[in-house]
Amino acid sequence: MSSDRYDVELSEDLIILRDTVRKFADKEIAPHVDEDEKNHRWQRDLVDKMAELGLFGCPVPEEYGGNGMGYLAHAIVTEEIGRVSGSLRVGFNMQTMGTSMSILKWGSEELKRKYIPDLVSAKKIGCFGITEPDTGSDTASMSSTAVRDGDHYILNGRKMWITWSPVADVCVVFAMTDKAAKHKGMSVFVMDMDLPGVSTVAIKDKLGIWACPTGEVIMEDVRVPASYRLGEEGKGFQYLMKELISTRLSAAAGAVGTCQAALDESIKYANERRQFGRPIAEYQMVQETIARMVAETEAARALTWRCAIQKDRGMVNNMRETCLAKFYASRAADEVPNLGLDVLSAYGYSNEYPMARILRDGKVYKILEGATNIMKMILATDALGIKKANKD
Ligand SMILES: Cc1cc2nc3c(=O)[nH]c(=O)nc-3n(C[C@H](O)[C@H](O)[C@H](O)COP(=O)(O)OP(=O)(O)OC[C@H]3O[C@@H](n4cnc5c(N)ncnc54)[C@H](O)[C@@H]3O)c2cc1C
Repeated sequence: MSSDRYDVELSEDLIILRDTVRKFADKEIAPHVDEDEKNHRWQRDLVDKMAELGLFGCPVPEEYGGNGMGYLAHAIVTEEIGRVSGSLRVGFNMQTMGTSMSILKWGSEELKRKYIPDLVSAKKIGCFGITEPDTGSDTASMSSTAVRDGDHYILNGRKMWITWSPVADVCVVFAMTDKAAKHKGMSVFVMDMDLPGVSTVAIKDKLGIWACPTGEVIMEDVRVPASYRLGEEGKGFQYLMKELISTRLSAAAGAVGTCQAALDESIKYANERRQFGRPIAEYQMVQETIARMVAETEAARALTWRCAIQKDRGMVNNMRETCLAKFYASRAADEVPNLGLDVLSAYGYSNEYPMARILRDGKVYKILEGATNIMKMILATDALGIKKANKD
């Protein structure tokens, strides 16, 4: 399929889904989002309500409890939640892409039936463990190990920055089964968080997304049944690269939500705030700022939707277009709230207005799911003909 053709006309089902999520986000999340952030409060009942609406099941087939609406549906849901709460948005990636979709792609039938319906319904909370204290972008050098012992593996190691880990029931976790083989020695497991030897430490002092539980996962001689390995031993790195193609779409969609939130707040403020006897919206320099915000937001959304639509059409391994969407949208999520701060000026600097939160939360997108430099490397080496990004 050509990578530059996409259709932006939404089906009736997608419009209904978007309107439902938008209404839910505005009615159920927005009224207390600032209070939740201030108190670092993760509301389990909101997660349950999102699950009741089927929001964690868009790319998941119906036979495993999903609604099979696809990747564009997931992107739309993620944007709408991300527009109102950066904190609640992060979990979408982990609950849907990181855990359910990894198990769907590589798990045995038993694991799929055991975990995916419970993740979609949020009966179980999932997390996705790659990063370690000394290993961020260079995932192949991770230190966590999984040593085979009869019909079990014994896992040891420490994962860092793991979203939802302090509240999670299950973790899709990566560890080395053969350290000497480097990226060919990585494997991936489904690990119940209540197994003996698993513990978590919450990371509380973050720049933003305060209402999102983030933590370390510590594994000390954790016995995981061999049947809980996903796919083949030694193929973990290959699976991870493929899974990141999905999680990066989710991050891009969340970043678009941040941009839209900053734009909405700026428009509202520019029309209300009067200086020199007129609303500041009448000043051309303010209009120029708003125009840039509109352009950045819509460009980010177009790239994100293209990526999602390609996946819905079967081009699931569209690494190039996913990295492009993630690169552009995450930069926009950094830049657009900065422009919003120009519009709101002093009130944007106050925590009594949402812009400060939007600005803090928007920063995370350049870090998550692959730092910006990694996106640039993938795009540049593809463009230069050094390494093709889309493999199949
Ligand atoms: C709030 C939050 C939630 C997270 N949730 C999860 C999660 O659920 N699961 C999980 O596994 N991880 C999670 N992460 C971790 C995240 O995926 C990593 O932070 C990310 O992969 C980047 O790694 P790093 O921050 O260690 O940066 P590093 O890899 O140490 O990079 C530092 C800097 O060096 C640059 N750099 C690195 N290598 C190169 C290179 N080869 N060429 C050029 N520049 C380079 C990077 O771009 C960056 O600017 C989360 C992080 C945050 C902040």
